[in-house]
Amino acid sequence: MAEVVGIIEQQTAPAEETQRTTDGFHLVIDALKLNDIDTIFGLVGIPITDLARLAQAEGMRFIGFRHEQHAGNAAAIAGYMTQKPGICLTVSAPGFLNGLTALANATTNCFPMILISGSSEREIVDLQQGDYEEMDQLNAAKPYAKAAYRVLHAEDIGVGVARAIRAAVSGRPGGVYLDLPAKLLAQTIDAVMAQQSLIKVVDAAPRQLPSPASVKRAIDLLKGAKRPLILLGKGAAYAQADAEIRAFVEKSGIPYLPMSMAKGLLPDTHPQSASAARSFVLAEADVVVLVGARLNWLLSHGKGKTWGAPKQFVQIDISPTEIDSNVAIAAPVVGDIGSCVTALVAAIDEGFTKPSVEWTGAITERKSKNLAKMAATLEKNPSPMNFHSALRAIRDVLKTRPDINVVNEGANTLDYARSIIDMYEPRKRFDSGTWGIMGIGMGFAIGAAVTSGKPVVAIEGDSAFGFSGMELETICRYDLPVCTIVFNNNGVYRGTDVNPTGGKDVAPTVFVKNARYDKMIEAFGGVGFHATTPEELTAALLEAIASGKPTLINAVIDEAAGTESGRLTNLNPQSAAMKK
Ligand code: ADP
Repeated sequence: MAEVVGIIEQQTAPAEETQRTTDGFHLVIDALKLNDIDTIFGLVGIPITDLARLAQAEGMRFIGFRHEQHAGNAAAIAGYMTQKPGICLTVSAPGFLNGLTALANATTNCFPMILISGSSEREIVDLQQGDYEEMDQLNAAKPYAKAAYRVLHAEDIGVGVARAIRAAVSGRPGGVYLDLPAKLLAQTIDAVMAQQSLIKVVDAAPRQLPSPASVKRAIDLLKGAKRPLILLGKGAAYAQADAEIRAFVEKSGIPYLPMSMAKGLLPDTHPQSASAARSFVLAEADVVVLVGARLNWLLSHGKGKTWGAPKQFVQIDISPTEIDSNVAIAAPVVGDIGSCVTALVAAIDEGFTKPSVEWTGAITERKSKNLAKMAATLEKNPSPMNFHSALRAIRDVLKTRPDINVVNEGANTLDYARSIIDMYEPRKRFDSGTWGIMGIGMGFAIGAAVTSGKPVVAIEGDSAFGFSGMELETICRYDLPVCTIVFNNNGVYRGTDVNPTGGKDVAPTVFVKNARYDKMIEAFGGVGFHATTPEELTAALLEAIASGKPTLINAVIDEAAGTESGRLTNLNPQSAAMKK
């Protein structure tokens, strides 16, 4: 029983009672630990400060942030990396709402996480009598979470945590909200009964086998294909079925394209990678196998000019309702990716021929042409640096360290880095994801560093970095091996816009000129670098990685470089209209 005797009772309960009772605080920690959850990302305050203290006292890691959104993003990426729900702990109302952004993003991206928030008293909240940080958090969370639960009685904490874990990781993973009113945490309960109420979740994410008929249908479709293509999404990376996916790609001989977070599932240098001929293969393929990738905006919804002639799809996904969400899917294969891909590999028999040389040769030709064009662009050495020359320097360093985690966000910084920086190992690239959002940078970097124990290089647009920049203090406080590279071109998209009225205010997209982001990290004891050439950038990055310390490189980019919204100009109709 030693484990259930803790800080709170020691402070409040008489000695013999301490032997017999425990409370909500202890039970929450016990329930998490029982389910092998060892880390909490969060931000303390009323009513969860003691919960965080207790977690640490009981041997869990508590990583405290400066803003809940970044704690939530760290939890979400930890969930993606480990298939265990990442835990984010926040205070009520505003803290909860800050965390909710990350929870919604996790749900959208299919990352398993649990947002645990303290909340005010139900009796007062429900009568809207004006409590401290009053808010009906459960109902606020529901539309943005895969599931949301509230626990009112200490004896239900075990069930609440078990339900949250199952909901987060089973089927299509997502974000779960767990509401813990302050009163619940302080409730005392018989210690033996409390221990018996806890649940160790068994087989939280059961395998889901595809039906044999669906596998046959998919293989038959592929047998008739002339120009097949495999598209790997981050669902495939999440599934940790790396060997099975490689076997499917290599045994079938089908060229493949990785979505951005699936880069590295197979090394980007793999001969069957069609990344350098992306537009060509998307337009020309006749049968496309989607493996854990949705036909959302990132894939032009499976239609239109990008996709050229009409084509047929095989879609492997754990969520049956994803099928036909944008276009007709001729051969759905519903199940977990490991099981589905294994079944497909087993069904590749003598009747299955590898794609024709006509198809693979055309891809190779297109790839060589595009790679030569890109090499010429990358070789240029303009002064000041542009995105390409800076990314060439980073690419060459990262090539020597395939184990390094890469975080990437921005507009142009994201677009260019995605295609220039090759990845060699699975689940090492973390970026703006399904929403295409800014603000994930430092949260993902901290989550990745804490979870993997490996270095992180965060390649950040200067605007994107601003959303989470204060977490540099968190990085320094925990002495994490994170090197943040800020692509500094003095503004959102670029720094050259002017106020058309000639007034004192700068244009909406412009920042302080020649800002020294490297000085920010020095305020917290980290090491800052200022790089104005690719050579300086290379030297700084090598030194930063070798140090294993918190570092930031202010990479000065030509302020005229960069296009509006990166490559998403089509999603920014106003700017097109204003330019007319
Ligand atoms: P990307 O953005 O890389 O294209 P998406 O996030 O759009 O990837 O798609 C991921 C898909 O993978 C989702 O539809 C999700 O249901 C699916 N998925 C996630 N985990 C698994 C799994 N273990 N097995 C099968 N499908 C999965």
